[in-house]
Parts: sequence; structure tokens; C-alpha cells
Amino acid sequence: MTGSLAVGVDIGGTKMLAVALDGRGEVVASGKVPTPPDAQRLLADLVQLVQDVAGAEVASLGVGVPGMVDRTGVLRRSPHLPALEDVALGKEISSRLGDVAVRVANDATCAGWAEHIRGAALGVDDVVMVTLGTGIGGGIVERGRLVEGAHGYAGEIGHMVVDPHGPRCPCGRRGCWERFASGSGLGRLGREWAIAGRAPAVVALAGGDPEAVRGEHVTVAATAGDGPARDLMAELAWWLVLGLGNLTDLLDPAMVVIGGGLIRAGEVLMEPTRRAFAEMVEGYDARTGLVLRAAALGETAGAIGAALLGST
Ligand SMILES: [Zn+2]
Repeated sequence: MTGSLAVGVDIGGTKMLAVALDGRGEVVASGKVPTPPDAQRLLADLVQLVQDVAGAEVASLGVGVPGMVDRTGVLRRSPHLPALEDVALGKEISSRLGDVAVRVANDATCAGWAEHIRGAALGVDDVVMVTLGTGIGGGIVERGRLVEGAHGYAGEIGHMVVDPHGPRCPCGRRGCWERFASGSGLGRLGREWAIAGRAPAVVALAGGDPEAVRGEHVTVAATAGDGPARDLMAELAWWLVLGLGNLTDLLDPAMVVIGGGLIRAGEVLMEPTRRAFAEMVEGYDARTGLVLRAAALGETAGAIGAALLGST
């Protein structure tokens, strides 16, 4: 019997999230489980999760993973999920599911595709999606087609170097964009200010310990109107737009979509980012209609995009 559901799984560092889409692309089931640390258990739990959300109705499966996925479905490099490096994910999962077709892709690429097909960039054909979480991921759509690159690695934008003397990155280099403009980048910036005595309200939220400051302490204080926390968000926005400006120079998008966990901060992030974007992007006034927008699909974007890519 052939199934009728397109299933997508987003493998994150701490949890695996699955959705099942019906023939009209509506989410009809979803589920999540913790991400086990070793590859064999992860594969077993992922297959179980797929069966829990779709049973025998699995028609296709897409899987989103953080890192560089080649065109054969092998995760070649993943600082955030090293246990899966060089595992032939597509083949391993397909054989465990009775030869269901499986497509494996980068998680942010999946999220970008989902925002293009049914989210914030619906109807927009030239899109750059940037996900801000522990790191920074990217998905690029040009003329309505996903940009994959020669090996499948296009969109690894978090590791564009913006300061060669900057802090060390899990990828091994220094000063990658994601060290500055991600959720963990905001935490690092917040700790710097806290240790220098420049952000007392943020330190109070972290229990009085400057070393314990994380990104969410900054966003909470900024939302409450704290001046230094707002200044921190403006500095984060500057770093964010440094990279967005480079991407805009390279790709000339019609829309830049900002997603990932950090956008839960809402307008305290988006407002300074829009302002810096208009000021810093080269030839902004000549880019008629260029829009910077928050993602619409929330934490399920990666799984929905994986399902959509897996069914095509
Ligand atoms: Zn890096």
C-alpha cells in the first residue's frame, strides 16, 4: 500500500521534530522526541518518530540536519551534531522504513524553502532566509528555485568570516558571522557588557552573575525597556546587518526573512535590524521593494520544508 503523507523531520541539537503533511500541504500530525547523542539510537528514534506521526501512510520523507549535507544525503560536516558526520543518513533511514524515498538537506535550507512555499515569502521568488539560533543557517531561493551549489552546500552563511581576529568558532576558524549575530552571539555580547558593568538590569536577570548572562536575559530586559539592553540589541542588529548587507550585495534578493529561535524577541530585534538594514545596505534606495521580514512558520519551518522537499 502506498502512503499519502509527506513527512518531514528536523533534527536539532536537542530535539527531533516531525510533521506529516496531507496532499494539500496541511499539517495533519506532528511530534517531537529528544535527540540521542549517538548515531544508531538517533536513527532508531527517528524512524520510530516517523512511524508515530504517519504510521503506514508515509509516502515520502525529508530530513533537515544542521550542517553540510552533500547531494547523496551524507552529512559531511556538522559542528553541532558531530555524531552524524559521514553517516549515509538518506540510505540508512530509507532502508529502515522499507525503501521509502528519503531526501536529506540542511535544516535552514529546509526552513527557507518552507517560508517560500507557504510562509513569510509566499509568492516571492528571490529570497534569502537567515535562521538565528545557536548558530546562523541560510536558505537561498533564486527565481523560485532552491540554490544548492555544486556539492549541495550552498547557504552555509553562518561561517562567512566577518572578523579574522574574532572569537574561535566550532568550525575551527575565527570570527565567523554566527559568533556575533546569533542567539549565542548575543549572549557573548551580553556577557562582555555585563563584566564591564555596562548592563546591570541584564545581570540582575541572570541572578547577579555576569558570567551567567545569556541572550534571552538581554531580550527580556530590552523588551522591558532597559536602555543598555536596547543598546545591546542595536549592536547585535549592526552585526546581523553586516552579514545581511554582504548577502544582499551578492544575491540581490527581493526579501530577506529572519527566522530561528532569536526572533521570539520580536520587535526589539526586528526594529533596530530594519533600521540598520536601510542604513547599511549598499544602494538600498535603488532596491525597490526590498523587504526585511520575520519568519512566519515558527519552530516547525524546518520540518515543514523538509517534508515539502522530500515530496518533490
Ligand atoms: Zn565558523
